[in-house]
Amino acid sequence: MSDVVLTSCVDYSTSEVESALERVLEPLGGLDWVKPGMRIVIKANLVTFLKPERAATTHPSLLCALVRMLTQRGADVVVGDSPGGLYNAAFVGKVYQATGMEQVEQAGGRLNRDFGHSPAEYPEGKVCRKFTYTSYLDQADAIINFCKLKTHGMMAMTCGAKNMFGAIPGAMKPEYHFRYPDPRDFARMIVDLDEYFKPRLTIVDGVTCMEGNGPTGGTPRHVGLLAASESPHKVDLVCAKLLGLERAEVPTLEAALERGLIPQTIEELDIHGNVQDFVVPDFQRIETGNGHLFEGDGKKLSSRLRGAFMAKVFSQKPKVIRRDCVGCGVCRDICPAKTIRIEKGKAVIERKNCIRCFCCQEFCPKSAMVVHRTWVARILEK
Ligand code: SF4
Ligand code: SF4
Repeated sequence: MSDVVLTSCVDYSTSEVESALERVLEPLGGLDWVKPGMRIVIKANLVTFLKPERAATTHPSLLCALVRMLTQRGADVVVGDSPGGLYNAAFVGKVYQATGMEQVEQAGGRLNRDFGHSPAEYPEGKVCRKFTYTSYLDQADAIINFCKLKTHGMMAMTCGAKNMFGAIPGAMKPEYHFRYPDPRDFARMIVDLDEYFKPRLTIVDGVTCMEGNGPTGGTPRHVGLLAASESPHKVDLVCAKLLGLERAEVPTLEAALERGLIPQTIEELDIHGNVQDFVVPDFQRIETGNGHLFEGDGKKLSSRLRGAFMAKVFSQKPKVIRRDCVGCGVCRDICPAKTIRIEKGKAVIERKNCIRCFCCQEFCPKSAMVVHRTWVARILEK
C-alpha cells in the first residue's frame, strides 16, 4: 500500500471531485473497510465563517462527494469541526451557513449538533496528557481527517496534522496556546492529539489552497491537488515539499520526526503520483523563522543556547496594518495573553506579553494583522 497518494483535481465540479476521490483512495485500499452501520466522523477544516471561495475551509463539494461514497456503503456520517470562537449551536451554525456545509445534509450526511465537551487522559502523550475535546468525536467508529492546505502564521503550514487541533473546543483554544507558548511544544501537543484520535484517513483539499497571510486572510491559489494518506504526518511531509517548505520550517513535522512517525525526506516514502506535477515553485509562504527552532534540541548546552538565540532572533511578530484595521476588537477578544487593546479605533499590541501564537492574525476579519519578520531576520536571511 502507498504511503501517500497524489492525484489531480482541477476544480470542484461534482464529476471532477467524485472521480478524483475514487483515484486518491484506490491505492490506499479504497473504502472497503467501511461497513454498514459504521459511524464515521469527517473532521473538516471549518476555521471560521468564510465562504468556500476564500479557500480557508474544506470545500463542501468534496465533503459531499465523500459523504455520498460513505453513505452508499451504509455508514452513518457526521461532519463537524470546532471553529475559533464559541462552540455552540448559534456560532457554529453561522460557520456552517457561510462555509456551505448545509449541502452536506442534502448529500445524506449529518452536521454535528452536539456541542458537548469530553475530558481525555492520555498518559502516552509527550506534552499533552490531559485535555478536553469535542464530544461528537466519541460517536466515531472512524475519523476521516479532511483538511485544507494553507499557510499558517505559527506553524508555517496547516494541513493534516494541524487540522486535529480542531478537536479542542473553540473557546478553549487560546488556553492551549497559553499552555504551549513555545511553537515546538505546541507542535508536540498537536502530534499528541493526532496520536490520540488516530484518524483512519487524512485527505487534503489542495484544489484551491491558500497562500500569503493564511490561514484565513491569505489569497486563494489554484494547485489542483487532492492528496491522501493513512498518516497525517506523511501527507504533510509531501505537501510541505510541494509548497517549497523545508521540514525544519514546519514544527509539526519536526515533532513527528522526533517520534519516528515520518522519515527524514519524502524520498523514503512510497508515493503514488508524480510529485513534480504538483510543485508550486512560486508559492507565497509566510516567513516564520521556524527553521531555527529545533536547532540544538537535545544536544550539548552551547548548542542549545545557540538554538535558543537563533529562535529568538528569527521569531516573527504580529503586526497591525493600521490602514486596514477597523478596530473591531476580534483580535483583542481572542488574544490568550490579553495583550491587545483598541486605541483610537485601532488595535495596539503590548509586545512584552505576546506569546506569538498568531491567533490575532488568524482571526482578524480584515486581514489587518500580519506576520512581521524582524529586521535582523530580514538582513540575515537575505
Ligand atoms: S481584528 Fe483586525 S480589524 Fe479588528 S481590531 Fe484587530 S487588527 Fe483591527
Ligand atoms: S498579540 Fe497576537 S500573537 Fe501575541 S499573544 Fe496575542 S493573539 Fe497571540
